[in-house]
Amino acid sequence: MAQLNNHLDILKILPKTNCRECDVPTCLAFAVAVKQGQKKLENCPHLGDEVLGQFQVEADQKDMGAEDFLRILEGRRAEVREIDDLLSRAERMGAEVKDDRLSIKVLGKEFLLDKDGKMASQCHMNLWVQRPILDYALFCQGLEPTGKWVSMRDLGKDGAEWANFFSKRCEEPLKKLADNYTDLFEDMVQIFDAKRAQEFDSDIAVELRPLPKVPMLICYWRDDGEMGSQLNLFFDEIAHHNLPVDCIFTLCTGMMIMFEKIAQTHGK
Ligand code: SF4
Repeated sequence: MAQLNNHLDILKILPKTNCRECDVPTCLAFAVAVKQGQKKLENCPHLGDEVLGQFQVEADQKDMGAEDFLRILEGRRAEVREIDDLLSRAERMGAEVKDDRLSIKVLGKEFLLDKDGKMASQCHMNLWVQRPILDYALFCQGLEPTGKWVSMRDLGKDGAEWANFFSKRCEEPLKKLADNYTDLFEDMVQIFDAKRAQEFDSDIAVELRPLPKVPMLICYWRDDGEMGSQLNLFFDEIAHHNLPVDCIFTLCTGMMIMFEKIAQTHGK
């Protein structure tokens, strides 16, 4: 029986539909929970006996009470405490320093990160947003966006590995949302400080800044009666230098959850 050694190995055998039937928001979160021993592979109702018979997981032998994300966040906060020059860090991130805290614009909203790695914002802060902000503070190399857009697949050496997950988790659900919720892009402009981008051959193109030096472009083609609708997300070619690719995936996952909530609240 093949051993699945980490959450990415586990994720590879999951359907990646994020259907939530396992009571976890995403397949990625489920994979983490399995690795931690909080869930078992058979808790995903979509894995048949054939697959279950092929793989096994040795769960981490540690306190299973703490959520994986909280543990990761705590580690990241400890690293943030080591940052000694806030000003140069802010400059690298395209952020500012206010009252000894990093002031970072996330989708146009201010998030404040203090020296202990704690965050404050007037916006709701879910775990999926906190981790990318901490990783951005820690790993951003400060490269300026070039304006050249590439797909997830072409994002550094790790992009190809994440491309299929990304398409299933982010692009496909966002396309469905856009198909059914006609004001989605207008709401992005109004709520998240997005900009309409005209110079693309899509019907709608919207540029978002989830982090100051990690811009993102959403292109949407309506159903023209012959071909179905299409939606693709693009990143600046330098994005992976400012935020690791796995964290870009996490960030987009969090944004999807946010857009879904907005559609539920504002949508028809
Ligand atoms: S792990 Fe399985 S049940 Fe859970 S969200 Fe993914 S596909 Fe659905």
